[in-house]
Amino acid sequence: MRILVTGGAGFLGSHLCDRLIEQGHDVICLDNYFTGSKKNIEHLIGNPRFELIRHDVTEPILLEVDRIYNLACPASPVHYQYNPVKTIKTSLLGAVNMLGLAKRVKARILQASTSEVYGDPTVHPQTEDYWGNVNPIGIRSCYDEGKRVAETLFMDYHRQNKVDIRIVRIFNTYGPRMHPNDGRVVSNFIVQALQNKDITVYGDGSQTRSFCFASDLIEAILRMMEQNESIGPINIGNPGEFTILELAEKIIELTGSKSKIIKEPLPSDDPKQRKPDISKAKKTLNWEPKVNLNEGLKETIAYFKTFLD
Ligand code: NAD
Ligand code: UDP
Repeated sequence: MRILVTGGAGFLGSHLCDRLIEQGHDVICLDNYFTGSKKNIEHLIGNPRFELIRHDVTEPILLEVDRIYNLACPASPVHYQYNPVKTIKTSLLGAVNMLGLAKRVKARILQASTSEVYGDPTVHPQTEDYWGNVNPIGIRSCYDEGKRVAETLFMDYHRQNKVDIRIVRIFNTYGPRMHPNDGRVVSNFIVQALQNKDITVYGDGSQTRSFCFASDLIEAILRMMEQNESIGPINIGNPGEFTILELAEKIIELTGSKSKIIKEPLPSDDPKQRKPDISKAKKTLNWEPKVNLNEGLKETIAYFKTFLD
């Protein structure tokens, strides 16, 4: 098949391009390089089955493709809050443009949605039928509400225009190729630990997250795209739940770092707890994560060591 990956030069997008090329597909990687980098896909440049397009998903584009993975959107709070208006435009206009393309060429399209649609959840663990607890006017809203309206557009294009859609709600995912200045917790802590700098825990560190390793996540979204049982939304993540303080301690231990943990103010609307209920993914995709936090962190630490040493 010919497959379009928007946000293909990003952390997850580049791993997805790798897997699709391995599977024998033709891949078009589309990116505006806001948070992505040519470095993530440089090993694919020159492969006759790989094409690279510098393009912004907020602008329409005409292509002939069989599948679209719509990943274009900054994912780290630091980056999505840098230009919040642009973040909403990317989710909203990106969805309109990619759904329009899918409709015209009859491509199947998958949306990379997020656990952020649940906001600061009052249901724990989060199931897909929970509608969430999202502040519509806070500093995270550009991302949360952008992703929520994108899900709405996907469902409406499906009901109104019979577009063949899939929606996955991705929970915190980490791994090699995260940008060292990405700003998300796993990369921040590893970079700080390897440089023996203070580890910046926001708040008292009692907030929880569930961390999924990139290879597990990619396997799930590939399965989601090619199954016919459900259009979603389906939660994808690792249900292992850790406090941010536990994560900091684990990373200090695994890196053998001399870093000290310091407390910094908790950003507003920071969700207190997050853990996916993955029963639906287990049943529909016959999938569950294989890489536990220790193993995944070791691989990620090894990656960051290659250019921080
Ligand atoms: P990332 O920032 O590394 O990747 C996003 C990519 O999209 C980058 O290459 C960036 O340059 C590109 N991009 C941003 N705006 C664009 C635009 N207007 N036009 C074209 N390209 C644009 O982040 P990631 O972690 O790889 O996330 C990929 C997708 O998965 C995002 O949609 C994100 O919301 C979703 N997601 C990720 C996580 C996670 O924990 N990694 C969790 C939930 C959802
Ligand atoms: N966090 C932290 N220190 C950092 C970066 C993040 O304590 O240097 C916390 C953040 O406040 C949140 C959690 O780690 O509670 C996860 O943050 P991240 O930005 O990775 O993703 P989120 O799940 O909040 O979108």
